[in-house]
Amino acid sequence: MHYLVAGAAGFIGSHLCERLLNDGHTVTGVDNYLTGKAENLEALAGRTGFEFVEHDITRPLPSLPAPDVVMNLASPASPRDYLAFPVETLRVGSEGTRHLLESAAESGARFLLASTSECYGDPLEHPQRESYWGHVNPVGPRSCYDEAKRYAEAITMAFHRAHGLRTNIARIFNTFGPRMKLDDGRVVPAFLSQALRGEPVTVFGTGLQTRSFCYVTDLVDGLVRLSRSEERLPVNLGNPVEMTMLEFAERIKALTGSASEITFLPLPEDDPQRRRPDITKAREVLGWAPRVPLEEGLRETVEYFRTRATGQ
Ligand code: NAD
Ligand code: UDP
Repeated sequence: MHYLVAGAAGFIGSHLCERLLNDGHTVTGVDNYLTGKAENLEALAGRTGFEFVEHDITRPLPSLPAPDVVMNLASPASPRDYLAFPVETLRVGSEGTRHLLESAAESGARFLLASTSECYGDPLEHPQRESYWGHVNPVGPRSCYDEAKRYAEAITMAFHRAHGLRTNIARIFNTFGPRMKLDDGRVVPAFLSQALRGEPVTVFGTGLQTRSFCYVTDLVDGLVRLSRSEERLPVNLGNPVEMTMLEFAERIKALTGSASEITFLPLPEDDPQRRRPDITKAREVLGWAPRVPLEEGLRETVEYFRTRATGQ
């Protein structure tokens, strides 16, 4: 099959392209490098069946080989990135998603949207099930991302309902692994690079807020399974093992053997207090659950970051 992957130069997008090529498919990757990097494509360049097109999907798509499946991963994803590019984030979620849906409709392709647990906002229901409508501040600093993704989900469902498009929506929870940017501000690269450099590990707020971390190969497997399923409503993909950010800082220090101290900085506005996916639906509909234990995923990630963080 032929896949069109938008956001191919990003962290998850590049792993997804690699997995699809390994499965014997051909892939056209599209990206404008807003938050991705050419280095992420190095493992893909030169592989048979892979083509890269530099393009901003908020503009009409150029002429491309007709896809069987379109997968939309294009969007800034780190809070630091989307706070730096709020208008671009809203545009890629809205106009960008519409262009890809139109392209899928034209070629009769399937379409998968990479949505997010941020659709639940600072959730009042815990753990989060797909039936929860969320608790989003529509005008806060994170709204550019949350509302872009909520719109992207809405227009995806509209194309399904109006045009019979075979669509899927993945609500992705915090994912980590090699190819994250060292300086993208997300907690995994932040803590790992600080610990590896012996710099203070910056815990925001009290550190009692929680997250659950999924390794990237598990997440990509969930996306692939979902893209083959007939489930039209959103499906949570994430690892249900939940911990506080203070516990996470301690685990990173232990794993890296770091003597870094832990310092406390102010909590960013609207930072969700608790987040954990209920993955019952993914288990039942996709036969999917994460398999890579946190420590194992973190060890792979440390290997990737060590030389980049310390130059050694
Ligand atoms: P990333 O920033 O590494 O990758 C996103 C890619 O999209 C980048 O390469 C960027 O250049 C590209 N892009 C942005 N705007 C574009 C545009 N207008 N045209 C073409 N390309 C554009 O982020 P990521 O962590 O790999 O996230 C990938 C997707 O998964 C995003 O849609 C994100 O919202 C979603 N997601 C990620 C996580 C996570 O924990 N990583 C969690 C929830 C949802
Ligand atoms: N965080 C932190 N220190 C950092 C970066 C993040 O304590 O240097 C916290 C942040 O406040 C949030 C959690 O880690 O509670 C996850 O943040 P991230 O930016 O990775 O993703 P989010 O889940 O907020 O989108």
